[in-house]
Amino acid sequence: MAGFEIIIVGGGLAGLSAAIHLSREGKQVLLIEKKAYPRHKVCGEYLSNEVLPYFNSLDIDLENDLKPVQIQNLLYSTQNAKSIETPLKLGGMGLSRYALDNFLLNNAEKNGAETLLDSVENIHFENNEFTVKLSSGKEFEAPVVLGAFGKRSNLDKNLEREFIQEKSSWLAVKGHYEDAGFPENLVALHNFEGGYCGLSKTETGVVNACFMVSYKSFKKYKNTEDFKEKVLFQNAYLRGFFKNAKPIFKKELSIAQISFQEKSIINNHILMLGDAAGLIHPLCGNGMAMAIHSGKIASEAVLSNFTGNKLDRENLENQYRQNWNSHFRNRLKTGRILQKILINPFLASTSQNLVKKFPYLLEKIISKTHGQPIV
Ligand SMILES: Cc1cc2nc3c(=O)[nH]c(=O)nc-3n(C[C@H](O)[C@H](O)[C@H](O)COP(=O)(O)OP(=O)(O)OC[C@H]3O[C@@H](n4cnc5c(N)ncnc54)[C@H](O)[C@@H]3O)c2cc1C
Repeated sequence: MAGFEIIIVGGGLAGLSAAIHLSREGKQVLLIEKKAYPRHKVCGEYLSNEVLPYFNSLDIDLENDLKPVQIQNLLYSTQNAKSIETPLKLGGMGLSRYALDNFLLNNAEKNGAETLLDSVENIHFENNEFTVKLSSGKEFEAPVVLGAFGKRSNLDKNLEREFIQEKSSWLAVKGHYEDAGFPENLVALHNFEGGYCGLSKTETGVVNACFMVSYKSFKKYKNTEDFKEKVLFQNAYLRGFFKNAKPIFKKELSIAQISFQEKSIINNHILMLGDAAGLIHPLCGNGMAMAIHSGKIASEAVLSNFTGNKLDRENLENQYRQNWNSHFRNRLKTGRILQKILINPFLASTSQNLVKKFPYLLEKIISKTHGQPIV
């Protein structure tokens, strides 16, 4: 068995940000990710600019190294394609997860973090030490474990987390498309009955189209194409886009069982990061920034409570819980309210029409679900 100071389980945005931050400060970090990079992930691929100051502090220059598309405007349309366009105060970047996650992984390795391609099967805490068991049969020990294994993982079951007992009613489908006419500086959120579809360009010039829908609405149709034809295309914007754009993927990616339920922030002494601590409704476009931000506050809590061989676990957990709550609790609450509205057809169409009538409401929702620049 090999020993590390910190084991990070899951190499998405939360885990990778923490790995970069902690290894930069000289901590011995092992990051375990179950799937190889680069790879596409189901995501809207709109990243709020609030992450830029934090990444700069880690010497990560997304703008120069990955050349994301700069997005300054939001176009929002109702199911019957009534639309409003509003500037985004902070703005954001159109950047594929294919490029972003792989880039951060390379940075973590450059800083000295060890990375391992394997799946974590179990995490056991005893005598103030974690034992992390992998599906390859390997085992590692560390005094600190960060759980950054995303919205739904085998580990949620093994750790007997409450939210995993409940059925989750959302699924998502994503693809990349060629569409020369789609504006560079825009993220579009188009509603349809039972869900919404986000469109925005990425660094390669393709348009990422990602839609999320309640399982109840989707299951009435034969397949994705049938669903698009009969439901998505009721919105003229979506009909226009999908009829003209050329798909790049052979097959769209999809995920199911997406849960917005409340989760524990600390579970059996494991600090939960990113979606493992709670997923905000993707319509808010802030999950990636929140995952990265949680990597920052977890790293800061570890660094201030784990010096030399001395670990103050109680203070570490209190500091993380407090900071997590102050940054994310309200944003997640607003996201959950949005999710409840969207799943109810009457409330969904009433609220979309209200937003169309009173654009100020849209700005309010954006400000309630986004953070300030992360410094
Ligand atoms: C449909 C949809 C659209 C979205 N669009 C946007 C958007 O446009 N903008 C935005 O800001 N946010 C968006 N989000 C949210 C955003 O994708 C997430 O909040 C963000 O990816 C969370 O990062 P994470 O690091 O917590 O998890 P992830 O990025 O999911 O990473 C978790 C990692 O853990 C690994 N893992 C899991 N289990 C194990 C295990 N047992 N052992 C080892 N590794 C494991 C997984 O392979 C994965 O790589 C969207 C989400 C959805 C569902």
